[in-house]
Amino acid sequence: MAGNWKMYKTPAETHAFFEAFKPLVASDSRCDIVICPPFPDLHAAIKEADGSNVAIGAQNLYWGREGAVTGEVSGHMLQAVGCRYVIIAHSERRQYFGESEADVVRKAEAALEFELTPVICVGERLEERESGRTDEVLAEQFDGGIAPLSPDQFAKIVIAYEPVWAIGTGKTATPQIAADAHGFIRRRVNAKFGPDAANAVRILYGGSVKPDNVKNLMAEEEIDGALVGGASLDAKSFAAIVSF
Ligand code: PEP
Repeated sequence: MAGNWKMYKTPAETHAFFEAFKPLVASDSRCDIVICPPFPDLHAAIKEADGSNVAIGAQNLYWGREGAVTGEVSGHMLQAVGCRYVIIAHSERRQYFGESEADVVRKAEAALEFELTPVICVGERLEERESGRTDEVLAEQFDGGIAPLSPDQFAKIVIAYEPVWAIGTGKTATPQIAADAHGFIRRRVNAKFGPDAANAVRILYGGSVKPDNVKNLMAEEEIDGALVGGASLDAKSFAAIVSF
């Protein structure tokens, strides 16, 4: 279960979140729990999560170890500060910053080089779903951004299916819609990396997951976890999702 804080919270607010959140999930051992705060909160979050069952991830990275790339952060830096995960190709980054499938591959490889688990997002926009192009879009994103990884690299990634029309809109995909998309992605994994990889890969659903809909989503065999935006900002609400 991963929380994506997007561009919310200061270090002081991060501290307050963890004070409230850690005791609520301390005895939960069913799943991996990850919080992805903005860069300036990483230090506070890593300190707060130390010794707990919560891992910390970043929301983006740049490829390469270091260099003249103003405003960017490398996998090496994220590893050094204590991050264990990194979100790649969130639809907001695809949409606002023009991230391409080639970027996804470079970023995933850079994350893996520095022992970060990439959480790679795919998902269709509303007009793509309405024009019946969901599978085509997912195939393009998988083939361009994920399939070029080696089998060893693929074994270390997490995929997040996030239909863009469900993100931050309060419109959750029905469990069936989400499961169908996950099934499509898993078949694509099977065709490229084989049945063991398709079985093992974790595919998270993301898009308006809340305490009151998580149980039905997680009841689907195909859904292995959730990537949660808005509802991860509140300690009680994210704890309720983690222990659904
Ligand atoms: C997200 O940002 O990845 C997300 C799924 O957001 P929300 O849960 O707010 O829809």
